[in-house]
Amino acid sequence: KKIVIAIDGYSACGKSSTAKQVAALLKYKYVDSGAMYRSVTLYFLEHYVDMDNPKSVARALSEIDITFHRHETTGQNETFLNGLNVEKEIREMRISDNVSQVSTIKAVREAMVSLQKKMGKSKGIVMDGRDIGSVVFPTADLKIFMTADFDVRAERRQKELFDKNELVDLDDVKANLKKRDLIDTTRAESPLIKPEDAIVVDTTHMFFKEQVEHIVQLAGS
Ligand code: C5P
Repeated sequence: KKIVIAIDGYSACGKSSTAKQVAALLKYKYVDSGAMYRSVTLYFLEHYVDMDNPKSVARALSEIDITFHRHETTGQNETFLNGLNVEKEIREMRISDNVSQVSTIKAVREAMVSLQKKMGKSKGIVMDGRDIGSVVFPTADLKIFMTADFDVRAERRQKELFDKNELVDLDDVKANLKKRDLIDTTRAESPLIKPEDAIVVDTTHMFFKEQVEHIVQLAGS
């Protein structure tokens, strides 16, 4: 029986890469909810949207269309904003620096959550984010809460950026993660929390393959 798997946790715990691989092994659909908030942020920055003006925010949201398409050769899902592939751009530091602020806006969350709920209509889905087990799919069959030591997270994220040709100072990566964690856990609108029925997976001392196999096993039991 196909199920719904919700993966939440702090920034740079390996949620997306793990969720992607779990979905591939189970032949499930994978949805990166963070990519959606990142796309909204990209649009807001490029169109100088005044985030404190509800009318500007509402208009911008009505102009935004976010879709995911499978890349022909890599088989990976890529993010499209109004028909344009923004997969690379939304991972840049300038987006990471602003995304958590944009994600505090109630109208933004409402729009994203409704889109995410639609995407989850058919079972056989893995979605990762901050409020998936708590708000988007409160009745998910399996909820995972991923954590890892702060320094390990920062080093992994720095390496990930380096692999994408973006050289970022480790202190800057740390400052970004600290800032996002703080905003994500203290915002008024659906803050990041561990759902009571979530299983904690601490990846500090885990190899990537181990964390993937662990979750696949939980999905089957
Ligand atoms: O998952 P990722 O780190 O790419 O998410 C970027 C940011 O988007 C998070 O730091 C958080 O502020 C926001 N986000 C959110 N709710 C989600 C997914 C992401 O608020 N479900």
